[in-house]
Amino acid sequence: MKTIIEKANDSAIQKAAEIIKRGGLVAFPTETVYGLGANAFDSTAVKKIYAAKGRPSDNPLIVHIGDKNFLNEIVKDINSDAEKLIKKFWPGPLTIIFNKKDCIPLETSGGLNTIAVRFPANNIAQKLINLAKVPIAAPSANISGKPSCTLSSHVIDDLNGKVDMILCGDDFFYGLESTIIDMTVEIPKILRPGAITFEMIKKVLDKVEIEKNLISEHPKAPGMKYKHYAPNADVFIFDANQKNISDKINELILQNSDKKIGVLACDQTKHLYKNCFVLSLGDQNNPTVIAQNFFAALRTFDANGIEIIYAESFAQNGICFAIMNRLLKAANYKFIN
Ligand code: AMP
Ligand code: MG
Repeated sequence: MKTIIEKANDSAIQKAAEIIKRGGLVAFPTETVYGLGANAFDSTAVKKIYAAKGRPSDNPLIVHIGDKNFLNEIVKDINSDAEKLIKKFWPGPLTIIFNKKDCIPLETSGGLNTIAVRFPANNIAQKLINLAKVPIAAPSANISGKPSCTLSSHVIDDLNGKVDMILCGDDFFYGLESTIIDMTVEIPKILRPGAITFEMIKKVLDKVEIEKNLISEHPKAPGMKYKHYAPNADVFIFDANQKNISDKINELILQNSDKKIGVLACDQTKHLYKNCFVLSLGDQNNPTVIAQNFFAALRTFDANGIEIIYAESFAQNGICFAIMNRLLKAANYKFIN
């Protein structure tokens, strides 16, 4: 398939909206990561997303809307807590799970009776959805299992030739996928951490809990069981709270001198590592920047043929909790302390 690749100006967004209406696939920027979109009402179009990404068909998609008022058309049972979240965090990087109406086909919801919905804050995404005049089902625009795409070049690497169009924007802000919260259960539950943190949600809702298995190997949330965010290299995480982790890592680098080794560090520690390919995610006191750089760093390791990555851990609160969740998945939960 020939993929149209264009900078997301008005005429390109119009062209992309026509493609969505015709049942095609468009990759587009959002404020979190790039999404790969199709008409959420069109089960044939939605099936093409799974095929292009190589995504298992029971891994549900997020439906993106371009206007809060559209929510009523696709979901039922919007309770007062959900309304509070919508008022506070939409448009923005919070995905909310509701009971779905029948107009949303089961292909879009991965066979579930619930549906995840988000109203993105990104201008290009909003224009695209509103011009297409349908909700757009869009998971992240990466090959299934690979790190999510924060730059148009990542999307081109993964999906050129597999989708109808790639809209290039590169004006992401968060760099991690949205927070997902399930509002269909008695106590609202965060299924995936993101830039809207547990602490921020707690200020709005009386009760909220975090899925217990987020930082273990056996998550219960649909789709979460699949391998995610993984670079080609084997990743090992080291507890950054322990003294001398750089000594420990430098020793391992020497022991594995036949391998191409990468270290994922921060500005404060990058100078400590020797005889390896070091990437800094940024100032450790600025987790927003660390999150923005995370997925691109994993892809840079791949581009440099790195076989083993040693990574420093992050804190378990605020946005760092979301970074750690992605890093643990990339490492297949190999945490060394
Ligand atoms: P992605 O946008 O590629 O990160 O994938 C969307 C993720 O949203 C899936 O992997 C699921 O974990 C989650 N999700 C979507 N719909 C639902 C749902 N109805 N219930 C629980 N999780 C969902
Ligand atoms: Mg994804």
